[in-house]
This record gives sequence, C-alpha cells and structure tokens, in this order.
Amino acid sequence: GVPDKQGRKEILQIHTRGMPIEPDFRKGDVLKALEEIKKDEKFKDAIDKAIERVKASREEEIPKVLKEISEDLYNEVKAKLIDYLLEELAEVTHGFVGADLAALAREAAMAALRRLIREGKIDFEAETIPREVLDELKVTRKDFYEALKMVEPSALREVLIEVPNVHWDDIGGLEDVKQELREAVEWPLKYPEAFRAYGITPPKGILLYGPPGTGKTLLAKAVATESEANFIAVRGPEILSKWVGESEKNIREIFRKARQAAPTVIFIDEIDAIAPRRGTDVNRVTDRIINQLLTEMDGLVENSGVVVIAATNRPDIIDPALLRPGRFDRLILVPAPDEKARLEIFKVHTRNMPLAKDVDLKELAKRTEGYTGADIAAVCREAAMIAMRRALEQGILKEGMKADEIRRIAKVTMKDFEEALKKIGPSVSKETMEYYRRIQEQFKQARG
Ligand code: ADP
Repeated sequence: GVPDKQGRKEILQIHTRGMPIEPDFRKGDVLKALEEIKKDEKFKDAIDKAIERVKASREEEIPKVLKEISEDLYNEVKAKLIDYLLEELAEVTHGFVGADLAALAREAAMAALRRLIREGKIDFEAETIPREVLDELKVTRKDFYEALKMVEPSALREVLIEVPNVHWDDIGGLEDVKQELREAVEWPLKYPEAFRAYGITPPKGILLYGPPGTGKTLLAKAVATESEANFIAVRGPEILSKWVGESEKNIREIFRKARQAAPTVIFIDEIDAIAPRRGTDVNRVTDRIINQLLTEMDGLVENSGVVVIAATNRPDIIDPALLRPGRFDRLILVPAPDEKARLEIFKVHTRNMPLAKDVDLKELAKRTEGYTGADIAAVCREAAMIAMRRALEQGILKEGMKADEIRRIAKVTMKDFEEALKKIGPSVSKETMEYYRRIQEQFKQARG
C-alpha cells in the first residue's frame, strides 16, 4: 500500500540518515524545540537562559547564540529542527511511495551540490572533491522544496473499494431520508429493469447536506450495504493534488474502478473542498476538477450501476453547475435530529451497553436539543467511560474478569449520562438549522 504520513516520515528518516541537513533556525521552531528539550531535564540550567537569549536574538544569530551556550544543546535543537522538517515533508508528500521519497532525498542532495557548483566551489577538472568542500555541503529546507518540484508521486493513491457493513437500523431517525435513498439508490441498483420498464431515469448523483455529524456518511454506507453495492469513499480535500493534472487523473481512476466493481456507490465527502464556485480559484485547479467530475458523471450511462453520493455542510458554496439535471440533481437535507430521532439514536448507541434501571432514554432525548447523532454517540461513549472509571476506582472491576460478569455488576447509570451531558454539549444551534432550512427553500425554488 501507499504509506501514511507517519510511514512517509520514517522512510524519509531512513533516506536522510547521515545527510548533512541544515534546518532553518526559525525562532518559533527553536523555541518549540527548547520547550520540548526542557522536559527531559538534561539541560536544566542552560535551557531557560537559551530561551531568553533566543527570544532576544535576530533569527540569523540563533545558531551562534545556541552554540555559545552549549554545543550539546545546539546539536539537540538542530536534531529537533530536522525532525520538524521531515514531519513537514511527510505532510506534503501525500501519495508518495517509498521509491518517490528516496528520490526526493536524493534530489535534495543534488540540489545542494548544484548550489556548490554554481558558487564555483567545486572544480570539475579535479579528480576528487576535497574534504573541506564536502564539509560545506549542506542540504537545506529550500533544497527539499526544489526537489519536490522534480519528483512526482509515481503511483496514484490507490482507490480503495470497501464492502461497507452499516445497516439501516444502525441509523436512528431520518426515516424520510432513508426512504428517499432507498428509492433513488437502492432500487435502481437492484432493479434496473424496473426503471427501464417504467421509462424513468434514476438520479446519477445525490447531494446530502446538513450540519456535521448528522449521519451523512453513515447513510451513504448504509445505502451501499443494503443495495449490496461496493463503496468507494473519497474526501474532497484528498482529491486536490498540487500536481497539475493529477487531480483529474484521480477522478478518472475513481470512476474507472467504480465501473469495474459495479454496482458501486461513490461517496465524495466534503465535496465543497473541490467545488467552490468556478472562477473564484486563482490557479483554476478546482475548475478543472469540477469539469472532470462533470465529464465523468455525464458519461455514466443509464444502468451503469454507479451512483455518486456527495456530502457537504456548506451547500452555499457548491458550484451550481454540479446541481444541474443529470448531475447532483437530488438534494437531500440531513437535519439535526428531533426528539423522536434522538431517542432512536440513543437506542442505537446503547444497544450493547449494560444500562442501569434508572436510565431514561426518553428523558435524555428530551434534554438533548441541538445534539447531532455524532454528539449523542459521544455522550453514550463518555457515559460508559465514566461508569468504567468508577468501577475501576471502586475495585469492582478486576483484571481477567469476563465481559458478561462486568455487564452484570458495573452498569451505566443515569448519573453517568448526566455527567457526560455536562462534558459534551450540543453542536447545532437553532440559527444553524434555520440556515440549512433556508438553503433547502432556495433549492426548492430554484427547481420550481
Ligand atoms: P456526517 O457524515 O454527517 O458528518 P457521520 O455519518 O460521519 O456524520 O456520523 C458520525 C458518527 O455519528 C457516526 O459514526 C455515528 O456514530 C454517529 N451518528 C450520526 N448520526 C447518527 C444517526 N442518525 N444514528 C446513529 N448514529 C449517528
């Protein structure tokens, strides 16, 4: 597979081992490094002095100032700064595999060498490079960024096909939305002939919008599960690539895989990231991505077995071109749950919990106005953690005890839920919901 950020950092560490990296001694970074070093006591007295002196120094003096105080401390700070640099590089090398990262390290060293050549420090005629000159070879942050321009990720990030396992009854409330998704996604995927028989065209794209944590991702997964379809999940920000053309390739690849694995639900979360209104993006990357997405969606033939579900909590910034007929032409609001829905969500998330008799889920539903499904899930988790902590403190819970026994003797009480409610507040205000309702009105009117 393709390494994640931590993996990329480790690979970079391997390929830069022994490389004379000269990090930038930026004040903020140096102070952060000093604070971290302070924790391990070794430089006890020197540290506070160093912090004071660094604060008072100009940036270019910092290495000298540190060396004066203690050569060891200087080296320690430098090691930290190199670590930050590698961390930063790992961050910006999404989609790079091991070989790409090795090439990146190599190119950075080459960039440093080319600098020495430009400065006339290396004599081409000479058989060998003298030691003193080699000692001057310093690979800087700038060299790495120079190298980044030259090394492209060789492999596109793999498009992962999942077989989701979320069922309708894992989702509390949202009955209308579930029904709409059944008809718009499940039926066309399961009974394509019926649509042909009645001469109606199922939607290609569905946009779920609403506050974060209201179950949009859950719904997309459930409809895929219940339609026995495969599931490809991508996040808008992930599709964006700083490599020209790469983002379009990403999208082509996603649709290619989806067609291959059909029936497939493609789920694009945070679609607003790639779809700010066209013309507002200076480098026009998002313009091209939207065009590619539109081309792919226009190219989906009837009964191709591919449905695209997108989700956003910023429906107001979506490009209107995406919402035209034949594209994302089904717009579904996923609201914060009402009291009845909250009760259902509490039931889902306490299904496998040992509840004390006094736990009144109806009462909890009544008291959680403005809580989303995600908030309620967090409340239930927190209540269980509180119960567990208490059981541990009271010595009721012992190592080696089996789950069944624990369930019998250490239940989650109403008080635990009340404590949890104090910690986790509602995340959707009335105003927020009104905002979404207004957008819903606008969408309706635009459609006549
Ligand atoms: P969104 O995509 O709208 O931001 P998610 O679907 O990712 O929200 O929901 C996050 C988590 O919150 C889910 O994994 C689930 O635990 C919980 N959750 C949200 N809505 C519901 C719901 N209606 N019923 C049950 N759990 C929910």
